[in-house]
Amino acid sequence: MTTTVNPYGFRRPHLLGIEGLSKPEIVDLLDRAEANVAVSRQANKKRDGLRGRTQINLFFEASTRTQSSFELAGKRLGADVMNMSVASSSVKKGETLIDTAVTLNAMNPDVIVVRHHASGAVALLAQKVDCSVINAGDGAHEHPTQALLDALTIRRHKGRIERLTVAICGDILHSRVARSNILLLTALDARVRLVGPTTLIPQAFRDMGLEVTTSMKDGLKDADIVMMLRLQRERMNGSLVPSVREYFRYYGLDAEKLAYARPDALVMHPGPMNRGVEIDPAVADGPQSLIREQVEMGVAVRIAVLEAVTGNRNASAVESAP
Ligand code: ASP
Repeated sequence: MTTTVNPYGFRRPHLLGIEGLSKPEIVDLLDRAEANVAVSRQANKKRDGLRGRTQINLFFEASTRTQSSFELAGKRLGADVMNMSVASSSVKKGETLIDTAVTLNAMNPDVIVVRHHASGAVALLAQKVDCSVINAGDGAHEHPTQALLDALTIRRHKGRIERLTVAICGDILHSRVARSNILLLTALDARVRLVGPTTLIPQAFRDMGLEVTTSMKDGLKDADIVMMLRLQRERMNGSLVPSVREYFRYYGLDAEKLAYARPDALVMHPGPMNRGVEIDPAVADGPQSLIREQVEMGVAVRIAVLEAVTGNRNASAVESAP
C-alpha cells in the first residue's frame, strides 16, 4: 500500500498547541484521526505504528480521560507506555520540571505526553528533550488534543465545521479547552460565540472580535453546537460567581435553555462534568448529547497525534543525517 504524504499537512515533531497551526495542518490531523475510528471499534485494535517505541505520560495534574486515552492510544499503536506518577516521584521532593524532564530524556523515550499546571511549561520542556512532546493541557493555556477531538466529533455529525455557530459557555477564563477550541474553530471558519458571566470571560477573547454575551438566550440563539465548560473552582482565587445555585439558574444548560438553540443542536462537554452546576443531568444524558462520543474520539485523535509527531521526528532526523 502506498501512502501519499500531504505536503501541507502536519509535519511538526511536537504538538504544543493549536496556536500557529494552519488550516491544512488541522484538517490533516482530523483526517488521520477519522481513519482510526473504525480500527478502534473492531475486535483487534492493535496496530504497530509505535512498536518498539517508548511513550512516557508525565502528568503533574489530575486526569482521568486524557491520561487513560493517551495510554490506550499508545498501547494500541504497540508502544511501551509508562505512566509517571508525580505523586510518588521526586517531584514531591522538590525536583524541578526541567530536572525531571532531563532525567526522563536520558532514558531515551520517543515521546513524552505532558500535563502541567503552569501555562507554557510544556513548550519549555520541549526545548530540553530530544524526543517528541505532546501538550496534554498546560494551565489555562492550551489543550490541543481536546480541541481536535471536539472538532472530529462535530465534523462527523455535521459533515463540516465551516459556518457552524458554536456557543462556548461558562468558565472561559480558566479553560484551556476554550482557548484551544476558539483557535481551532476560527481557523476552520466556524462562528464562535462566547457566553458566560462577565467575570469569567477574559478581555483577550473580547479583543479577538468574537461575539460575547452574558445571556444564554442570546448566546444559544440558532447555535448548531453548545459547548459547556466546567466551573473550575480549583483555579479561582476569590469568588467569581455568586453561588453554584445562582450559576446553574443563569448558566446551567437545561432543556429550557437548550431550546434557544437550533432544534438539531448538539451538546458537548470536555469533562469532568459538574452535574447540576453547568449542566442538567437530563441534558448531559439526553439525545442531543455527544459527551460520550467525545471520549471515544479522544482515543482516535491521540493515536493520530502520537503517530504524527513521532513519524515527523524520525523523518527530520533522517533528513538531517550526514
Ligand atoms: N479535562 C479538561 C481539562 O483538562 C477540562 C476540565 O478540566 O474542565 O482542561
